[in-house]
Amino acid sequence: MNTPDIFVATCDLAGQVRGRGAPREAYDSVLRSGLGWVPANLGISAFGGIAPGSAFGSTGDLRLMPDEASEITIPNSPNDSGLKVLLADQTQPDGSEWDCCPRTFLRRAIKDFRELTGLRIIATFEHEFVLEGLPQSAPFSLRRHRDADPFGTDLLRLLTDCGLAPENWLPEFGAHQFEITVEPSDPLTAADRAVLLRELVRDLAIRRGLRASFAPLQEPNGTGTGVHVHISLVDDGGNPVLFDASRPGRLSEVGARFGAGILRHAEALTAWTAPSPVSFLRLAPDRWSVGGIFLAERNREALLRICPTSSAGGSTPDHQFNLEYRAADATANPWLTLGVLLRAGLSGILGGHEYPTPQVFPETAGPAELKDVPQLPRTLEDALLALEKDQTATSWFHPDLLTTYLAVKRYELAQLSSLDDSARVRAVSDVY
Ligand code: GLU
Ligand code: MG
Repeated sequence: MNTPDIFVATCDLAGQVRGRGAPREAYDSVLRSGLGWVPANLGISAFGGIAPGSAFGSTGDLRLMPDEASEITIPNSPNDSGLKVLLADQTQPDGSEWDCCPRTFLRRAIKDFRELTGLRIIATFEHEFVLEGLPQSAPFSLRRHRDADPFGTDLLRLLTDCGLAPENWLPEFGAHQFEITVEPSDPLTAADRAVLLRELVRDLAIRRGLRASFAPLQEPNGTGTGVHVHISLVDDGGNPVLFDASRPGRLSEVGARFGAGILRHAEALTAWTAPSPVSFLRLAPDRWSVGGIFLAERNREALLRICPTSSAGGSTPDHQFNLEYRAADATANPWLTLGVLLRAGLSGILGGHEYPTPQVFPETAGPAELKDVPQLPRTLEDALLALEKDQTATSWFHPDLLTTYLAVKRYELAQLSSLDDSARVRAVSDVY
């Protein structure tokens, strides 16, 4: 009794979670053979309609094959039905892999990374979001934390019960802004959690008469809302390999090479990790998002930040040590975001002299030392052009996936092209 019905979902190129529902009685058969799906769905824009130029038309069929490990249950409440949500791989009708599935893209990146380096990735996504419907309150204040109750308390319980392992829940700097972090995990779990967390936050907010938005901006000059991806590497025995106290920034050689890959492909990466028409308004200097393509110790303007470690309570640095990629936002698909970061890092590790050891800027590096660091693309269109020019980055994708992605993103740009920045920011906020 009270077993909820089910929804089997994927996350598409616009970062939207879409899928199909089925009655609770069908649970076993859905787990075994999935639900029907359509390749053309990959071409849907965030703002509606199928992008002209998508590789997929009116023919073709797929399955949504749920992964039991991703299952969460939204409990029922007096006014709402509960729901089991399962994330799925999009597969061929016979259950074999489909080359254009974003979750399969991440799975393959994880497998190649493991096979080619012998190392494993540990990752987590740190999310900021804005909660509308609360009084104005001061940044980081206890007042804001309390104003968000019982939403906050309920959110921590919900995420815990769903196995998302929340870590910190805090009032952030921007107006009505909050942040939620979850424990690091294997990369597929980390990206699955990011997909689910956004949906759970939005869903709970609606049920509490609030509105949550993960859009990168709420107004063009306002505080940015980012997604920061934390990555560390461990060997077979689970021993951390990013930390080396004897090297610049305490970043090991393999860590520096991983970072070199991300820096080298940064412009192309942002086409996947910050892919809305307004994402690049956030990614500008002096906004504590990303002020340039550089690697630095504990600097919140770095594309790749070497995070602090703490020795309080006898903690050792090596297990805490991690790199934070700051140029992501929640308009991106988490599977693709982490997948491209792993692909770029892997290119750096395997790439030899083509990937020179990057400079690690110390925490003390100021504007004078940083004045020559390369800048990120200024617009999404520039990022898409950079992606098309980057032969290594384009080689990571099946041509149909790349074609469809470029078509969707250019269609989204066209759909908002007649609007000014304020209206574009609002249009993106309405969807995310
Ligand atoms: N809100 C900032 C961003 O747009 C990040 C601030 C922080 O370091 O937490 O990425
Ligand atoms: Mg933050």
